[in-house]
Amino acid sequence: MDINQDFVNDIRKILPEEQFYINEPMSKHTTFNIGGPADYLIFPSNMEQLTIIFKLLNQYDIPFNILGNGSNVLVLDKGIRGAVIKFHAPMSYKRCEGNKIIAGAGAYLKHVSQFAADNGLTGMEFAIGIPGSLGGAVFMNAGAYDGEMKNVVTEVKTVTQTGKILTYGPDEFNFGYRHSVFQANGQAISEITLELKPGNREEIQAKMDDYTRRRESKQPLEMPSAGSTFKRPEGYYAGTLIDSTGLKGLQVGGAQISNKHAGFVVNSGNATAQDVLDLIKEVQDRVYKEKGVKLYPEVRIIGEQ
Ligand SMILES: Cc1cc2nc3c(=O)[nH]c(=O)nc-3n(C[C@H](O)[C@H](O)[C@H](O)COP(=O)(O)OP(=O)(O)OC[C@H]3O[C@@H](n4cnc5c(N)ncnc54)[C@H](O)[C@@H]3O)c2cc1C
Repeated sequence: MDINQDFVNDIRKILPEEQFYINEPMSKHTTFNIGGPADYLIFPSNMEQLTIIFKLLNQYDIPFNILGNGSNVLVLDKGIRGAVIKFHAPMSYKRCEGNKIIAGAGAYLKHVSQFAADNGLTGMEFAIGIPGSLGGAVFMNAGAYDGEMKNVVTEVKTVTQTGKILTYGPDEFNFGYRHSVFQANGQAISEITLELKPGNREEIQAKMDDYTRRRESKQPLEMPSAGSTFKRPEGYYAGTLIDSTGLKGLQVGGAQISNKHAGFVVNSGNATAQDVLDLIKEVQDRVYKEKGVKLYPEVRIIGEQ
């Protein structure tokens, strides 16, 4: 890796030590516990700081990737050249204004759901067990059980690659199944407004507890993964297709089709990204051969192989 010392000196003027890392293994920052090093890992704490970070990245011609909690990504084994901007604890503020919650992109989804419940607001219960950041959930239009982000997001502030702050409204989100406009524009989702409805606290909590129990009984939460590996194919469930092709437990190196839920590839210990890629390919080939259905990864693959 080539470290640009001038960039490092400039970025250290605006970020404390715990918000800037060099040559940092991404296995420490993804729920798969897989991934080679990023040249630079940056944790921004607010939009104004982010505009300066983007200006420096441009000035020094450093490429970048954006990450939330790393729960829907596979970072390849040689890691990421350039910078990773990770939205996490330093940008996890949240406040309640009437029926609205306004929060930083780094807020953990589970905390946002609980915050809504504590404020007697209903609409975010579905997200209690999704282990992502709020920004990542908007980017992916994350959803579960009876809900998806599409139903609750009313405003999104982004920072563009040239360091401008933009505001998006509901007509512009272009939400679809695991899709949003932000997947095409390369901007950093930075602040999100959710509009919820007043509800009964006990009922909201009971619904969240029920979703948590259902998730714990069905999903391999005790093992590192990136959730559902494949998108839901039209008319099918990926997990059911994989299971009925007899692939539960199939293993390549340290990567395995979960015995608990065939829709999940899990890291059974020391899996490399290559193991996961090889397993994905094997599953795609065998499901297509036996069932005639094409599976496509939902997990986003980034970095160098
Ligand atoms: C055990 C488990 C269960 C899961 N269950 C569900 C589920 O029920 N439903 C569901 O929808 N998903 C589920 N997921 C997948 C995942 O949690 C969601 O997709 C989540 O929304 C990803 O958020 P993240 O912050 O981790 O994003 P990351 O994985 O960090 O990033 C995902 C993508 O979003 C982009 N991104 C992230 N943050 C930003 C930002 N601030 N600005 C611009 N781009 C950004 C990244 O560039 C990347 O392309 C599960 C995952 C696991 C491990």
